[in-house]
Amino acid sequence: MNQNIENIIALHIRVEGLVQGVGFRPFVYRLAQQYGLHGWVANTTGGVSIKVEGLMGHMACFVEDLRYKAPAVSVIEEIAVQNDIPEGLGEFSIMDSLDMSDETSEISPDISVCPDCLEDMKRQPHRIGYPFINCTNCGPRFSIIKDFPYDRAKTTMAPFEMCTKCREEYSEISDRRFHAQPVACNNCGPHYSMHHANETLTDLNDLIKKTCGLIEKGAVIAIKGMGGFHLMCDALNQQAVARLRKIKIREGKPFAVMFRDITTLKKYAEVTAVEEQALESWRRPVVILKSIMPLDSGVSLDLDTLGAFLPYMPVHYLLFEKLHTPALVLTSGNLSDEPILIDNRAAKETFSEKADALITYNREIYNRNDDSVVRVITDKERVFRRSRGYAPAPVRLNFRVDGILAAGAELSNCFCLGKDSRAYMSQHIGDLKNQETYEFFEETIKRYQQLFRVKARIVAADLHPDYLSTRFALQSGLQVIQVQHHHAHIASCMAENSIHEPVIGIAFDGTGYGTNGHIWGGEFMVCDYARFERFAHFEYMPLPGGDRVAKEPWRMGLSLLRMAYGQNLPDMNLPLLKQVDPGILKKVDEALAKGINCPLSSGAGRLFDAVAAITGLCLNARFHAEAPMRLESAIRQGVSDIYDFVDAREISFLPAIRQICGDLQTGLDAGSIAAKFHNTVAETSLQTAINIRKETGIDKVALSGGTFQNKYLSELLERKLLLNNFTVYTHSRVPCNDGGLALGQIAVAANNLII
Ligand code: ZN
Ligand code: ZN
Ligand code: FE
Repeated sequence: MNQNIENIIALHIRVEGLVQGVGFRPFVYRLAQQYGLHGWVANTTGGVSIKVEGLMGHMACFVEDLRYKAPAVSVIEEIAVQNDIPEGLGEFSIMDSLDMSDETSEISPDISVCPDCLEDMKRQPHRIGYPFINCTNCGPRFSIIKDFPYDRAKTTMAPFEMCTKCREEYSEISDRRFHAQPVACNNCGPHYSMHHANETLTDLNDLIKKTCGLIEKGAVIAIKGMGGFHLMCDALNQQAVARLRKIKIREGKPFAVMFRDITTLKKYAEVTAVEEQALESWRRPVVILKSIMPLDSGVSLDLDTLGAFLPYMPVHYLLFEKLHTPALVLTSGNLSDEPILIDNRAAKETFSEKADALITYNREIYNRNDDSVVRVITDKERVFRRSRGYAPAPVRLNFRVDGILAAGAELSNCFCLGKDSRAYMSQHIGDLKNQETYEFFEETIKRYQQLFRVKARIVAADLHPDYLSTRFALQSGLQVIQVQHHHAHIASCMAENSIHEPVIGIAFDGTGYGTNGHIWGGEFMVCDYARFERFAHFEYMPLPGGDRVAKEPWRMGLSLLRMAYGQNLPDMNLPLLKQVDPGILKKVDEALAKGINCPLSSGAGRLFDAVAAITGLCLNARFHAEAPMRLESAIRQGVSDIYDFVDAREISFLPAIRQICGDLQTGLDAGSIAAKFHNTVAETSLQTAINIRKETGIDKVALSGGTFQNKYLSELLERKLLLNNFTVYTHSRVPCNDGGLALGQIAVAANNLII
C-alpha cells in the first residue's frame, strides 16, 4: 500500500435533491465497494454527504457513476465535489443520519412497485403473494409520512412491528430492503380485507378470486389504493360502467382506465415513445392518449381520447393475473366534488350501500394523494393533475420564497409553500367550494408547514375577492399580496423554466379576475415576476347569466351570434337555435339585448364554448371544460385553412364567427370547422406575439392557462412561434391550468417583496 500513497486522494461530496428514502446510501455504498474506496456516507441537511478515499482513477469513475447510475427515483439537483485530505479511513460505511435541526430534506413521492419486488412476490417464502411488498426502490412514501425525518416510527407503518426476518433485511447493508421504512411481509405487515354482502374475507387468495368473479359479473367495487380509495369495474362492461357513473353522481367526465399491460393498452390507444415512457415510469400517472379502439362509450363519452394507466400496486398485478378483462375503470373513490376518500370507516359509510363490495387494508393513508394525470404535447410530458408520484417534490427557484404561502385558485386548487428557494407545491386539492375539500385544503396547509418546518408569514392570493382561497388569505391575519390571475399563470411558467428576463406571456383560460373588474382569459401580456402590462386581449364578450355559461355553452353561442350579427341574425339552421327551449332562448336573448346580468369576459375558454355551441358539438356541458374538449376532439386532421380575425389590441373573432356560420350553412363538417377555428386562434396568437416583439424587442414567449391542455392548439402554436424565431417556454411538471397557479403567485409575491 505504501508505494501507492501518493496516488491516494480524498474527496468530500455533497449531493442535493431527492436522495433520501430512495435507496441512495446503499447505492453509494455498493459503488464504493465496487471501486475499492474507503470512507463513509450519511444523510445530512438537505441531502447526502460522502467522504471517499482511494485511487484517483477509481475516484473519477465513482463520481461519474454517482451521477449517471443513481437509483431511478432519485433526483440529483446538485453534486458538489471538494478535494479533501486523506485520513486513512477504514472500510466504507453508512453512518447514522446527522442531526437535521430545522432543515429538511425532500420527501419522496409514492413509487410504483418495482420489478424486483414483483419477482420476490413469487419467490421469497415470507412474501409469496404479499400485496404490500416494497423495497428502497419502491412503495409508499408521501402517502404514509406523518413527519420528518423519514423514519418508520413517523409513518403509518409505526403500528406494525417488523418480524425477525424483515428486521434482518432492514439492517443488512447489502440487502435491497436496507432501511426501507415500510418493509413488511406476510408475517408482520398490513393486510387486506374484503366486505361483501354479509361476509368478510381476509385470505388474500379468496379475496382476489372473489373480486375477479364479481368484476367479471359486472360488479362495482370500492378498493383502497395508495393515496386514496378507487371505484373499480370492468371497463368493457357497459352496465357496470353506467352503474359506476351513477354511484359517483357524475354524469359526464371520462373515466381513467387501468390496462393489464402496455401491449394490451396499445390495442386501444396510440402510444408514442414518450407516452410509453410516461406510462411505464415509476410515477405511473394516468396518461391521456389518442384512442384507436373505443372502449364502452360510457368510459370516454365519445371523446377521441382515453385516460390510461398501468398497474402500480402489487394488488393490481394480482388482480390482472386472474382477470379475463384486459381493462378496469379505476376512478377516484369519491362522490362528485368531494376529495378522494382515504379513511376506512368513511369509505364503509359511503360505499357499503352503493358499491357491491369494499376492499380495505389496515394501514392508514395519511396524506391524500389522488392519481396524477399527464398528456404528452410536442413530445413533452405535461402534468395536468399533479398528485401521486409527483407531490411533494419542490420546484427549485433562483430566488428566495421563504415563509410565503400561495393560496392558489378556487377550482383545481393546489397551494404552494416556500422554504428557502424551494417552492413546495401541494398535491391536487380540488374544488374549494366543496366543504370537505376546503377542510382538506386547510389541513394540508397546516401539515406542509409542519412537515417542511416553515411558518408562513406572507400569503399570496388571487385578486378574485370571492375565491375561497383569497378569503382564506385575507382572514389569515398575515400580510397578503394579491396577484392577478393571468400574471400568476405566466409567472408560474417562468418559474418552472427558471426564466429571468421579461417575456411575452400568452395566458388562455376560462376565467380569471381582471384588474378592471372584468373577467379575463384571452391575454397577451409583457411581464416579469414583479409586474405585468396587458398588451392585447380577446374582445370582451357578454356572458348572459354570468357563471351559468360554464354549464350552458349555448348561452355563449347566442352571445357571439348577437355580437356578430346584432339584431339582423339571419334565419340559420343552427342546432343552437333549434334545440334550446324557445322560451328560455328568448329570455336570454332579451337579457343580452338589455345587458342584464351579462358580465364581460375576454376568456379564451368562453370563445371555445361559443364555437362548440354554434357548431352543435356541445350545447350543455356535463363537466368542466367539456365544450372545448369536444371541439378539440372533433378536429379533422390535415385542414390548414384559417378564418379572418381583427388583429388589434382587442382581438376580434367576429369575422370568424360569421364565416363559421357560413360554413355551417354550406354543410361543411364540424370537424373541419373545428380545425379552422383552432388554426385561427393559433395564427392570431402568433401575429400578436409578432406585434409585441416589434414594439418591445422581446422574443421569449411563455404559454400558460388551462386552454393549453388543448394538444392541437398547443402544438400548432408552439410550432408557429418556433418557425418565427421565438423561444417558447411551456409547462411540464407544473400544471398549466389553475393547479399551477400557486407557483406563479409565490414567484410574484417574492419579487414584489424584494423591490
Ligand atoms: Zn421494490
Ligand atoms: Zn416481516
Ligand atoms: Fe386560470
